[in-house]
Amino acid sequence: MFDLKEFEFWFIAGSQDLYGEETLKQVAEHARIMAEELDKDPVISGRVVLKPVAKSPEGIRRIFEEANASPSCAGIITWMHTFSPSKMWIGGLALNKKPILHLHTQFNRDIPWAHIDMDFMNLNQSAHGDREHGYIYARMRLKRKVVAGFWQEEGLRRRIAVWMRAAAARLDGERSVVLRLGDNMREVAVTEGDKVEAQIKFGWQVNTWGIGDLAERFKAVRDEAAEKLVREYEAAYDLSPDLRTPGKKRDAVTEQAKIEIALKAMLDAEHAGAFTTTFQDLHGLPQLPGLACQRLMEQGYGFGAEGDWKHSMLVRAAKVMAASLSGGVSFMEDYTYHFEPGREAALGAHMLEVCPSIAAARPRLEVHPLGIGGKAPPARMVFDAAAGPALLATLVDLGDRFRMIVNEIEAIRLEDAAPAGEAAMPKLPVARALWRPYPNMRDAAESWIIAGGAHHSVYTGALSAEHFRDWAEINGIEFVLIDRDTKPARLRDELRWAEAYWSSSK
Ligand code: MN
Repeated sequence: MFDLKEFEFWFIAGSQDLYGEETLKQVAEHARIMAEELDKDPVISGRVVLKPVAKSPEGIRRIFEEANASPSCAGIITWMHTFSPSKMWIGGLALNKKPILHLHTQFNRDIPWAHIDMDFMNLNQSAHGDREHGYIYARMRLKRKVVAGFWQEEGLRRRIAVWMRAAAARLDGERSVVLRLGDNMREVAVTEGDKVEAQIKFGWQVNTWGIGDLAERFKAVRDEAAEKLVREYEAAYDLSPDLRTPGKKRDAVTEQAKIEIALKAMLDAEHAGAFTTTFQDLHGLPQLPGLACQRLMEQGYGFGAEGDWKHSMLVRAAKVMAASLSGGVSFMEDYTYHFEPGREAALGAHMLEVCPSIAAARPRLEVHPLGIGGKAPPARMVFDAAAGPALLATLVDLGDRFRMIVNEIEAIRLEDAAPAGEAAMPKLPVARALWRPYPNMRDAAESWIIAGGAHHSVYTGALSAEHFRDWAEINGIEFVLIDRDTKPARLRDELRWAEAYWSSSK
């Protein structure tokens, strides 16, 4: 779906001329070995590209100028093998536009107890070189991720990879358009937002097309093309018996196939990585694009319902971050609670549009009437989300800034939650997820609502809170985590302090 090796991460080891030719040669050699080993480790998601050792203000500035101009550079990793006086870095860092990871490590793992001498000390001084380097980021108030530890350790590499995924999603966001079909759902507040600020902040180009453009493409799709796609559906999903023979319901599936073909062609023509629909604006389409939205999410496009462009783009960002990981990414909506004491749970779904990448088993394809929108019964995939650790991420516009809220959850099997002997929701023909949020239902819901979290979110079993924290840091927005340690009363105070921080940090 996405090849994260297309995203380059420039690896810069810092030093200075003072040490002489021999030492600098060794610094360069060590940096080469590290960059190559990191690059070939399958844990490391992006491509690691070695740059010349940074040892003068001019050289440093040049590397950052080149990085800014490079369309494939998604981020920069800096590491100070020796002492690299940080005033040399101010010029380069001041003009840098790329995400930064400050890797605090050293080439050798152990102190060579028997052999250590002053030459070794002069060459291997990351412990203080990286402190000088860290100071200048702090002094310049620059966004960055600091990762400390031994560079061959897998845990450290995983943290680098998390940041690389977030940085790749940032660069992807700068390249792709959010194609809005129609406007936001009437009167809804949380799906609104400042599209100009979103482009300034995230690089997202959020623009609107008329639904008529899609309707025209839909009408032009040939029957044979749609039937060919339906055969793909037959191979990938279980069709309910009433869809296997010609008739009205089978025709509904063919109609969705035409919507998928038309929508995909339109997305690709506009270089769109994400899109929105609105059930209030479907003129010229026979059904709500249910199955079509599910299918396109499965192919990596971001989606938001009711004109929700923020979550559409966030689904896309999460899809890029989750490339090649298992666990899936979907648009999601909180629906209904189960308040039985000790067994509390939340049911998430949408009218139809949940991505099958989160499914526990092969989805079923069904056609049923929809109680909203006044269109023909739409085809949709029906499935349960896989059980296991997952999270919900939401993005809201507070007027003066964007806030991201992440809630860690545990997805559970419907059969495990339903009372013994009772069937689990056989009459609910939508894709759904059931979860228990951390720290518990009450505190999670109170915290989410205190923070102003939306009813729409991104649901994923593939990513951790660290992915979203890194993504928020790269984009310079507020990040709020609701996890096992969250206390709503304390969170309320933290959000109030955050008001002061964000109003003074513009
Ligand atoms: Mn909705």
